[in-house]
Amino acid sequence: MSWSPAGAGPMEDAVSASTAESSGQIVVAGAGYAGLHVALRLTAKLRNDPEMGLALVDRHDYHQVITELPRVAGGTRAADAVRIPVQDMLAERVRFVQTEITGFDLAGRRLLTGAGPIGWGRLVLALGSRPNDFAIPGLAQRALSVYSADDAERVWAEVSKALMSAAAETDPEEQRRLATVVVGGGGATGVELAGELAEILPEAATGHGLAPGRPAVRLIEAGPTILAGSSPQLIDKATRILSDLGVQVRTNAAIAAATEEGLRLTDGQLVEGGVFVWAGGVKAPELVADSGLPTGHNGRVKVDRYLRVLDHPDIYAAGDLASVTDPRTGHVLPPLAQVALEEGETVARNLDAELSGKPLEAFTFHDKGFVVSVGTRRGVADIAGITTGGRLAHLLKDAIEWEYRQSVTHLRGWDPVAI
Ligand SMILES: Cc1cc2nc3c(=O)[nH]c(=O)nc-3n(C[C@H](O)[C@H](O)[C@H](O)COP(=O)(O)OP(=O)(O)OC[C@H]3O[C@@H](n4cnc5c(N)ncnc54)[C@H](O)[C@@H]3O)c2cc1C
Repeated sequence: MSWSPAGAGPMEDAVSASTAESSGQIVVAGAGYAGLHVALRLTAKLRNDPEMGLALVDRHDYHQVITELPRVAGGTRAADAVRIPVQDMLAERVRFVQTEITGFDLAGRRLLTGAGPIGWGRLVLALGSRPNDFAIPGLAQRALSVYSADDAERVWAEVSKALMSAAAETDPEEQRRLATVVVGGGGATGVELAGELAEILPEAATGHGLAPGRPAVRLIEAGPTILAGSSPQLIDKATRILSDLGVQVRTNAAIAAATEEGLRLTDGQLVEGGVFVWAGGVKAPELVADSGLPTGHNGRVKVDRYLRVLDHPDIYAAGDLASVTDPRTGHVLPPLAQVALEEGETVARNLDAELSGKPLEAFTFHDKGFVVSVGTRRGVADIAGITTGGRLAHLLKDAIEWEYRQSVTHLRGWDPVAI
């Protein structure tokens, strides 16, 4: 069950990372919710194993608090506020390598990166996901996405530009079209984004010399309901808040194509607007699809109950890119930060167990509930079977985000080597 660190030590730079000597180390690919959690937890767990190298690899030198992106897209939070420098969170024990991961040498147990190959004794794959446009023609070109701080900043910039163009327009119809934001996808991301924008746009319009009632937000969902899979009570409360905010929600409205004119629905109708944002789902990164690793629905990597990639016991997967079935429901767990963090916890425990020759722990998801903000003041929440809607749910969302930020900086303090 255990493997040898094979002389692994902290990497001094990307070159030493590429040497065979470091091939016994644990390499965590991705400093998002799952990967960062693994690195932080392992830092403490490996305190009795100072020889074991631990490397964290990401293209950015910051961790993105993705759950706060709707606020950046709505202009109420600066993009820099959701980028936490990785070095502010990691203990010296963890060697951080900022580089693009370009592929996998599975047989040679090496990550291929812009900084050269990085050998692993154990690899943790936590590269997240990317927007899934479901091959809808024109969508990737015509619609913005909101999956990074840069994306979210771009959405707010485009919305501001559209309001400015609308203000310069004399034709009221054209003015209305330009000041309309169309959000595709009525899941949690789409609802949060639509709510945030609907709340902010009247004031933003005034700032551009437009009537506050001129902007509009449309939310387009292919399925019969927004927030699919949630309780009817939660859906009802969210729908009421959106309606109160003036969001025009359309369900059973599948997009056939995105064109110069707007979004063409499968029933032939055209949805016009000045800005289009797609929040209709995610799939695994391209890199994973081309890796030769076993993949399932949406390209997510198949794992066993210990979160090891099937047929690859030296590789664990966690977060959005892992396809993890909840044995109680038989369904694959959704791509959520909450799930990513819990999976990261199990992966850290299992790596520690392997090193100590202890049995591995099967992953069990403990659902803490579902909270969605709807606008800047209200939200909806389903926790322990109780549904709430309104100010309290929004405060809950704020509290969860605050607690998360505290935890990522607090966990660093658990590393006795760093003290
Ligand atoms: C707008 C929005 C709002 C959301 N709100 C919520 C919410 O309120 N609650 C909730 O539970 N979930 C929410 N989610 C989902 C949640 O953000 C994801 O489930 C979570 O980020 C998944 O964590 P992860 O570690 O798998 O991936 P990520 O957090 O995306 O991290 C992946 C990391 O891998 C790095 N990476 C990827 N490819 C490469 C490469 N080739 N080379 C180097 N580095 C690479 C990235 O830079 C990134 O740091 C939201 C998602 C979005 C888009």
